[in-house]
Amino acid sequence: MSKAIVSTLYDSDVFRMACRQFDKAADAISLPETIRDRTKYPRRCLAVALPVKRDDGSVTVFEGYRVQHNLSTGPAKGGIRFHQSVTIGEVAALAMWMSWKCSLVGLPYGGAKGGVVVDPNQLSPTELEHLSRRYMQEMVNFLGPHTDVAAPDVGTNEKIMGWMMDTYSNHVGHISPAIVTGKPIAIGGSQGRREATGAGVAYLVKKYLADMKIPLGKTTVAIQGFGNVGSETALALSAYGAKIVAISDYTGAFYNPKGIDLKRALTYLHYQKVLRDFDGAEPITNEQLLELKCTVLIPAALERVITDKNAAKLQCRLLAEAANGPTTNAADKIIEARGDIELIPDVLCNAGGVIVSYFEWLQNLSNFYWGRDEVLTKLFGVLDKAKAAVDAQQDKFKFSRRLAALTLGIQRVADAKAARGLFP
Ligand code: GLU
Repeated sequence: MSKAIVSTLYDSDVFRMACRQFDKAADAISLPETIRDRTKYPRRCLAVALPVKRDDGSVTVFEGYRVQHNLSTGPAKGGIRFHQSVTIGEVAALAMWMSWKCSLVGLPYGGAKGGVVVDPNQLSPTELEHLSRRYMQEMVNFLGPHTDVAAPDVGTNEKIMGWMMDTYSNHVGHISPAIVTGKPIAIGGSQGRREATGAGVAYLVKKYLADMKIPLGKTTVAIQGFGNVGSETALALSAYGAKIVAISDYTGAFYNPKGIDLKRALTYLHYQKVLRDFDGAEPITNEQLLELKCTVLIPAALERVITDKNAAKLQCRLLAEAANGPTTNAADKIIEARGDIELIPDVLCNAGGVIVSYFEWLQNLSNFYWGRDEVLTKLFGVLDKAKAAVDAQQDKFKFSRRLAALTLGIQRVADAKAARGLFP
């Protein structure tokens, strides 16, 4: 008899959301009780205090986490988030989603996620370097190229991955590029990794629009979040011929029905660091952006932005989840009941990032490097296969697309656990 554990450690809105998604999927595929909780709950976590010497001589202690959800299908894999609203429950939910994502697209990885409770914009470059190095120093015995491989996420980037790789390499006494992915190319980063998530989102949007018989030339796109993923998605979709009519960051949202000049927005962002007061479009609210009449709405920032408050008001035809967990379960129900919006679920939609992370890790382990075209062609091949599997699962069981994707991901993790057996 299995008795469900209730996690006090991770309890939070977002962790409960990930758990309910799991329960629904596990019920849909009648996952045996003997395997359910083992598959559902995170395997282990580490919480660390990170003292950082500030430029003014004072010391601030930040809190950091790493949650390894699943190690049964390969080394755990997932990004590290630097954000002021990070909690261990959020990191656990994100780690769970990494497990289903890697498994869905067929990568030999488990799932993990890390986070530090910090607003990185409030740190000087030196402070940011010290924090990043200290995080890796504390994680040295928890991570490893064959145990748990880190990567960028919200608030972290190539530079931070470079410092972390250097810290780990100094500890083990030799260069160890496979400890993190999303590194600068000069130290073993992969061609195409920086744009991989956005390129994957855009590719899948293109594929689903084709299924819906909507021409790219008639497609308007609103993107919530203009960080690495949002901006790369915008560039790729606009190269395909779509018109980007709205973009936003945490300082404001902007709308231009004629299409936003992306070069101008990126130049503005380069110099100003934020979109606040961007003059290439009309300012609107974040809520207005989400409810804009457009062909494709792309949440590309944080979790839980499409809720029961705005789901009925969405005016898009396709909702492409570039962020992890942007749609609450209540909103999901509303969208399903409406029946007029197609949805590309996060675990499929944004998988391009971790797919090219896998390619980067392979290149590091074999010391043999690929060209950009090769990387992108292989990325699109993996996405095609995953999309076909999700489409087939939908057709076979009449599942929503999210349920189809989650059941495939969860089943594969559960199968691996069953095949390995339970250590007595
Ligand atoms: N942080 C990204 C994600 O949520 C990428 C993870 C990775 O490349 O390991 O999928």
